[in-house]
Amino acid sequence: MSLTRKRNKILGTLGAGAMLCTLLVAAPVSAAPNQATTPGQGTCKLSDDPQFTGWTSYSELGSALQRIEDNSNGRVQVDVAGQTELGRNLYTARVGTGDRVLLVQSAVHGNEKTGTEALLGILKKLGSSNDPAVKQTLENVTLVAMPMANPDGGELNRRTNVISWEEVERRHPQLEGSQRAWYHRLSSEGIDLPGFDLNRDFNADLDYVPQPGDLPGDPKDAGFYLSPESQAIRDLYVKLRDEFGQVDAVVDLHHMGPCDQQTGGEQDGKHISVALDYPPLGINDGASYKEDWPLLDQDKSRRYALAVANGIKDSYGSQSPLAAVGRYFHPEEREYAGQGRSAFALNGSATVLFEVRGQSDDFGQKMKGMLVQTVQTGIESLIDSMATGEVDTLEGDDFFDYPDYGWDETRD
Ligand SMILES: [Zn+2]
Repeated sequence: MSLTRKRNKILGTLGAGAMLCTLLVAAPVSAAPNQATTPGQGTCKLSDDPQFTGWTSYSELGSALQRIEDNSNGRVQVDVAGQTELGRNLYTARVGTGDRVLLVQSAVHGNEKTGTEALLGILKKLGSSNDPAVKQTLENVTLVAMPMANPDGGELNRRTNVISWEEVERRHPQLEGSQRAWYHRLSSEGIDLPGFDLNRDFNADLDYVPQPGDLPGDPKDAGFYLSPESQAIRDLYVKLRDEFGQVDAVVDLHHMGPCDQQTGGEQDGKHISVALDYPPLGINDGASYKEDWPLLDQDKSRRYALAVANGIKDSYGSQSPLAAVGRYFHPEEREYAGQGRSAFALNGSATVLFEVRGQSDDFGQKMKGMLVQTVQTGIESLIDSMATGEVDTLEGDDFFDYPDYGWDETRD
């Protein structure tokens, strides 16, 4: 199917009922019609566990990373990129010595947790494996992971971080008396503590200083680096760029809320495991940004997303529920310059968004394990593809051969 046809197909589907991780409104979990269990395909039955047990907590993360570093014989270096408003550490872990750099962050939306587990699994494996292939990979790639980018939100199992507008004004005195940024909220997931949707707080201008005249801003436009977490991620990116010349790729790990089925392709009818995306920067592959940001390369992002998708499919076979990969909702006009993946793509990095099925507190242990495994395989596939250079030889347009998993269907 041609690129144009597929894009047009998606274009007509901006349904009012679409509730996505990356939309302004926090995504309640999709209800019917796709909750029926189909044998061998996983389930969308929701446990909605208010305790959100079974996921690595902030304090467990610190000790888990310490153990990985201790067991790595110097291969893994754990660091702290900054502190949250509530004083928690933003841990990073670095492994590999190659000149191709991959930065992966997880749980910038605090209640989207599979990526944290997947990153711990990858760091453990890369840190301790004696497999010659792993050693060779680490000579070609440097992986820098931030497994918990919003621990203040994560510990409350909610999307936003925790920071009041008064505190924002204290940190940025020039903003005193200005309007609140549009993505600053007074509550999140029913918890009445103010905070930001951090994945709207990014700006391609990595030296940007917040200006009162720019507020409150607009969902399509860049954000303002008002939070310590987004600033720390930006600073980490700049540091890596200064060290290596460029950051090849940035991966951002999320959950999408809805639990839909594939429509079409080899996995027709299977529940999606993970949906992938390239940056939402408007029509004609972000053409309106090119003058100011000539390094933007949407096709490069699609090549990297394709390496992830192909890797998952090749690992599990097209009929496995673990291999149910789709494209995330992406009508051509979709535009969110304030997302981290957009800001870094405008600086020349390939960026790939992972959106895992459902919400991380929705599923039982078996399903959690399956989804973590899919995410881990996807990231490992990308690392391998970067190490061998295969990712550079892919056809970015082949990404459109993956199904869009049902966003083109009318939703109830
Ligand atoms: Zn998210």
